[in-house]
Amino acid sequence: MEITDLPVAGYERVVRAKDKESGLHALVAIHDTTLGPALGGMRMWPYGSEDEALTDVLRLARGMTFKSAVAHTGLGGGKSVVIGDPRAVKSEKLFLAMGRFIDSLGGRYITAEDVNIGIGDLEVVRRSTRWVSGLAREDGGSGNPSPYTAYGVFLGIRAACGWHFGTDELRGRHVAVQGVGAVGSALVERLVKAGARVTVADAREDRVKALVDKLGVAAAGVDEIIGIACDVFAPCALGAVLNDKTLPNLRAKIIAGAANNVLHESRHGRVLFERGVLYAPDYVINAGGIVNVAVEFAPGGYVEAESLRRIERIPEALRQVWSISSEEKIPASDAADRLAMNIVAEAKARA
Ligand code: NAD
Repeated sequence: MEITDLPVAGYERVVRAKDKESGLHALVAIHDTTLGPALGGMRMWPYGSEDEALTDVLRLARGMTFKSAVAHTGLGGGKSVVIGDPRAVKSEKLFLAMGRFIDSLGGRYITAEDVNIGIGDLEVVRRSTRWVSGLAREDGGSGNPSPYTAYGVFLGIRAACGWHFGTDELRGRHVAVQGVGAVGSALVERLVKAGARVTVADAREDRVKALVDKLGVAAAGVDEIIGIACDVFAPCALGAVLNDKTLPNLRAKIIAGAANNVLHESRHGRVLFERGVLYAPDYVINAGGIVNVAVEFAPGGYVEAESLRRIERIPEALRQVWSISSEEKIPASDAADRLAMNIVAEAKARA
C-alpha cells in the first residue's frame, strides 16, 4: 500500500492511501487532536475526483473538531473518505486494507460509521485495526447511536422552548418533524410522551402511517411540512433544507432537529437571526450520537448512564451558543463556531 502525506495548512495531518491489490483509494484528514484523538466517521462516495474527495474530507474533519469541542467529548476531529461507488468497490480486501491504513496512524484517528458505511463494514475494518468505534454492544461497542441522538435533540427542543418562550414545558407545543427514520421516530415518541402536538412527514409513507397509527400524530406532505405554522420545525431527514427556496415559507419560531448541515449556506443562518427565528445549530443539538460513542473511550469503557449524563449537557451548550448570539448580535450558527474555536484555543493555550 502506498501511503502519502498531503500537507494542508490548518490540518495536523492529511494522508492518502492507494492499494493496488484491493483497489483502495482513501483519504484521512486529522484536523485537530488538541482535545483528544480525532474521531470521525468513514464515508464512501463515488467522488468525481480526488480533489472533490479532499474538499469533502477537510470540511467534514473540521466539523468534527467543532462538534466534539462543544460537546466536551474529550476527542478531536477527523474524518475519512473512501473513493468509489459502494455497489462496485466494497469488498473484504478493501476494508482490511482500510483498517491497515487507519492503523498506520497509530490511534490519532478513530473511525466510525458514516454515509454508505455500516456496522458490517466496520467489523471487517476492526480485524486490521483497533481504532474503530461504534460497533455493536456485543462487540464491546456503544451500539446504535440514533436513540442517543434523539434524546439530545429532544432535550435541545425543550431548551429552545425555554429560551424562546420562557418555559420549557412542551405540553401543547406544536412540533413539525421532517423525516421519521431512526432519529426522527425516536424523537416523535419522546415529544408525544411530553404532551407536544406533533406533525410528521417522510418520503416513506409506511413510516408516517406507523406513527399515525401508534401515536395519533398528524401527517403532512413532504413539501408541506416546512411551511407549517408551528412552534418548532425539527429537520431530521436531509441537509440543506433551509435555503433560498424554503425560507420564505418557513413559519416556525424555532429550528431544532437532528439533520446535519441544515443551512444550505452560512448566510441562511443570518436570515434566521434577522427574522428572530431561534436556531439550535445542527452539530450542537445532534451531538448525542458522538457523545455516546465517546464514552467508549472513558476509563472503564462504555457505560450507558455516563452517556446519558453527558447528553444532558447539550441544553447548557445550546444556551451558551444563544447567549453569545444575543450578546454579540451574530447568528447562532456563527456563535457555535466561535464557541468551538474558543474551547480548542483555550485547551491549546493550556497545553
Ligand atoms: P434515516 O435514514 O434513518 O432517516 C431519514 C428519514 O428521512 C428516512 O425515513 C427518509 O425516508 C426520510 N426522508 C428522506 N427524504 C425526505 C424528504 N425530502 N422529506 C421528508 N423525509 C425524507 O436517518 P437518521 O439516522 O434518522 O438521521 C436523520 C438525520 O440526522 C440525517 O441528516 C443524519 O445525518 C442526522 N444525524 C443522525 C445521527 C444518528 O445518530 N443517526 C447523528 C447525527 C446526525
